[in-house]
Amino acid sequence: MTKNKPGFSTLAVHAGAQPDPTTGARATPIYQTTSFVFNDTDHAASLFGLQAFGNIYTRIMNPTQAVLEERVAALEGGTAALAVASGHAAQLLIFHTIMRPGDNFIAARRLYGGSINQFGNAFKSFDWHVRWADTADLASFESQIDDKTKAIFIESLANPGGTFVDIAGIAEVAHRHGLPLIVDNTMATPYLLRPLEHGADIVVHSLTKFMGGHGNSMGGVIVDGGTFDWSASGKYPALSEPRPEYAGVVLHATFGNFAFAIACRVLGLRDFGPAISPFNAFQILNGIETLPLRMQRHCDNALAVATWLKAHDKVSWVNYAGLETDPNHALQQRYSPKGAGAVFTFGLKGGYESGKRFVEGLEMLSHLANIGDTRSLVIHPASTTHRQLSEEQQTAAGAGPDVVRLSIGIEDAADIIADIEQALAKA
Ligand SMILES: *Cc1c(COP(=O)(O)O)cnc(C)c1O
Repeated sequence: MTKNKPGFSTLAVHAGAQPDPTTGARATPIYQTTSFVFNDTDHAASLFGLQAFGNIYTRIMNPTQAVLEERVAALEGGTAALAVASGHAAQLLIFHTIMRPGDNFIAARRLYGGSINQFGNAFKSFDWHVRWADTADLASFESQIDDKTKAIFIESLANPGGTFVDIAGIAEVAHRHGLPLIVDNTMATPYLLRPLEHGADIVVHSLTKFMGGHGNSMGGVIVDGGTFDWSASGKYPALSEPRPEYAGVVLHATFGNFAFAIACRVLGLRDFGPAISPFNAFQILNGIETLPLRMQRHCDNALAVATWLKAHDKVSWVNYAGLETDPNHALQQRYSPKGAGAVFTFGLKGGYESGKRFVEGLEMLSHLANIGDTRSLVIHPASTTHRQLSEEQQTAAGAGPDVVRLSIGIEDAADIIADIEQALAKA
């Protein structure tokens, strides 16, 4: 490595990893063990009391997970990270750290369907309440903030419509009210966009998607930006008040600019238990090594497919921010000039029925509920990922009945287009 700060591709390969100190293994080993031997009783006591860092038990921390955490923190420009079993587990731990019963948070209406369910339904059983806002209307965030509001949550590139968001503008609203901005960066990945550089305080990912990138392992991660003052308002007692389970330790006072990541680990992960398996952490680490190469190819292929679709006479519209005619193109140029991602939607003139026949007529593209695989994928959101939502919610989330969503892979663009062409002929 050079003396200067290493570049993104170098970090994607090296950050957090060293040859294994015991065996010399160059690839990060899968530390497939539940637990770790203490040096002596004093060592054990200091680990349990948070006076020393070290491995105790894989539910809380594991060396393979630790490399993944350091790598993602480096790629996002954060101070620390916590890897967990899935993107949804990461979201749960974030809100568990921030919220108390009766509290609320403001979230963009355009979100991954699973997040709309988690926030709108599952979180109610904790007495946590979401208020939906429109990313194109900053006032819709600000007008809903009250003294029980604890955070603002958005996606940097919103699923499923592929819409970019004015992160800096929303960060300003959040900070004016002493709130942290949480950004789900799953669809963009830090290769295209680093939300912390635009004012976000916490970044969350489903590592299941482009980060792991091969459609083989679930994972999630929380990245602590280190920027937010958790003690200023008294609104975040988990961080600013003594913790009874750790002999009165105050997490923010003790751990400073990585206290949020620590709190999610020692309060959330420890007590709810959604640990990522060392094997999945290893698979995702391997995926991240090629993230810059894959993402660029994903974006280039997606632009080629979107351009081709736009000219097709059976297609009524294409929503891809990479197209110069797209209303979202200016935001894409500002936030993600390397590309517009690989997930986008289009509508077929034949509506719902035609969309169904199209999806069933594809041969290479797989019909399934995932994005961010090396393989090209397709789904009809209204009948699958967004099915639990009302038609009104579906449309608001960019997943109305006529919408087909593509996640373009890294195959040859000509082959992806050929498959779509033959399926359109059948539709
Ligand atoms: C998939 C996804 C999630 C949830 O992640 P899981 O790993 O499936 O739990 C959250 N946000 C976005 C944008 C996603 O695409």
